Amino acid sequence: MPETAIVWLRRDLRLADNPALRAALAASERVIPVYICAPDEESPWQPGGATRWWLHHALRALEAALAQRGARLIVARGETLPTLRALIAQTGASRCFWNRLYDPATVERDKDVKQALRADGIHCESHNGALLFEPWEIKTGGGGPYKVFSAYWRRAAPRLAQLQAPLPAPDALPPVPSGIDSMPVEGLDLLPRIRWDAGLAEAWQPGEDGAHALLERFLAGPVDRYGEARDLPAEPGTSRLSPHLHRGEITPRQIIAAVRRSGRADADAEPFLRELGWREFSHQMLYHFPHTPLEPLDPRFADFPWRTEQAETLLASWQRGRTGIPIVDAGMRELWHTGWMHNRVRMIVASLLTKNLRLPWQDGARWFWDTLVDADLANNTQGWQWTAGCGADAAPYFRIFNPVRQGERFDPDGAYVRRWCPELGRLPKKWIHQPGEAPDDVLSACGVRLGKDYPHPLVDLKASRKDALAAFDAIKSAG
Ligand SMILES: Cc1cc2nc3c(=O)[nH]c(=O)nc-3n(C[C@H](O)[C@H](O)[C@H](O)COP(=O)(O)OP(=O)(O)OC[C@H]3O[C@@H](n4cnc5c(N)ncnc54)[C@H](O)[C@@H]3O)c2cc1C
Repeated sequence: MPETAIVWLRRDLRLADNPALRAALAASERVIPVYICAPDEESPWQPGGATRWWLHHALRALEAALAQRGARLIVARGETLPTLRALIAQTGASRCFWNRLYDPATVERDKDVKQALRADGIHCESHNGALLFEPWEIKTGGGGPYKVFSAYWRRAAPRLAQLQAPLPAPDALPPVPSGIDSMPVEGLDLLPRIRWDAGLAEAWQPGEDGAHALLERFLAGPVDRYGEARDLPAEPGTSRLSPHLHRGEITPRQIIAAVRRSGRADADAEPFLRELGWREFSHQMLYHFPHTPLEPLDPRFADFPWRTEQAETLLASWQRGRTGIPIVDAGMRELWHTGWMHNRVRMIVASLLTKNLRLPWQDGARWFWDTLVDADLANNTQGWQWTAGCGADAAPYFRIFNPVRQGERFDPDGAYVRRWCPELGRLPKKWIHQPGEAPDDVLSACGVRLGKDYPHPLVDLKASRKDALAAFDAIKSAG
């Protein structure tokens, strides 16, 4: 029987720059690529609705790419270890390769799988296929993890010069023998039963080709204006690569290599590379502080007096984009429709939820988890804890965004608000971010009936800011 290896694919659904696949091909004549759907092993962070949609299409894209090179994807559902063991028994495989994941549940699961398969006599090998640097590689002088991004990046950025070139996709793959148990991707039941996904399908092309098309678009121009345009939600100023990075359809190493190939020095693309640095930083934080998806890094916030009265109603209004604060509502509707939200707006909506509405950041993180196509435990945890003021390198709690001023500054003509809140579309720019302050005659000339077509603001921004600061003072003095 030919020497056979299994490549256990997870969040690395690509053929290019895939170290586990490359190592399997180097070691064995026959390579069996498998995807095992085992959501409960990621508990309590099983993939949400939007990432399940993405996964379905990403698997279909991978199937097509494998077929083009003469191979086939084995798809299975169920507990990982028995599924791998059954596959090993069926194929006579003696080796198993995968790329590492870093969130707490999968770290534990992967350790168990490695130990059990090794005890069975199977050669197991894991690789770094997701990050520029392993979470344990960039250390402080004291040998621990960094908790401040700027210090982390000062240490990490010079190492970009030594990055290895990305691995090319194999031209051909050995055929996968017939007769191995597999199921159609449709059988994984990843698509929603009630079809709310039309907006997602319009906005995205999951898979490796979709990722590279976005990268090309970004390198054709936006990367050069990224420093200024990245904060303007009405403009296509960012790469939109986050869901592809999350699912491992493209690697940060490939992105950096493409930037360099386009003739740009790292220094020219620094603001953009820095954001890839935040992704690295978030992953090292999650790896070293695995309790943070549910608990604040700053323990004082465990006793924060979150609002209890009307909490459910307020949360539902925020989720539906009915807060009466246009930039927030535009963001929440963009999220619902496309599965993505601009970073500046993510910060604004998260600030409104945690500070003005004084609802727990964990509620916001859960909603994002279910609705974002890029829902990523490391980045989402970091983003929410940062905005709530309780995370690593967090914005100080007392710096509370005023969403009206943020809207006026970053969406000065209101183009973003008009796109997602069409009922406000005719308001002049002076009032687009605060229709509640507009004179009655302006509102009626523009066809806006507050409380009917568009809600009154859910909170008084000034008063709620004061309440939030008082709540913070209470935990500060207790701490
Ligand atoms: C409350 C909140 C929640 C968030 N949840 C997520 C999440 O679940 N998944 C996710 O990928 N990002 C999350 N982010 C970070 C950021 O908003 C997105 O990565 C970014 O908007 C994705 O758009 P892009 O691909 O066009 O980014 P670009 O600006 O083009 O940046 C390139 C890549 O760098 C990484 N990146 C950019 N900004 C950040 C950041 N602040 N932190 C970590 N990595 C970053 C992403 O992988 C991104 O694709 C969150 C931010 C906040 C404030």
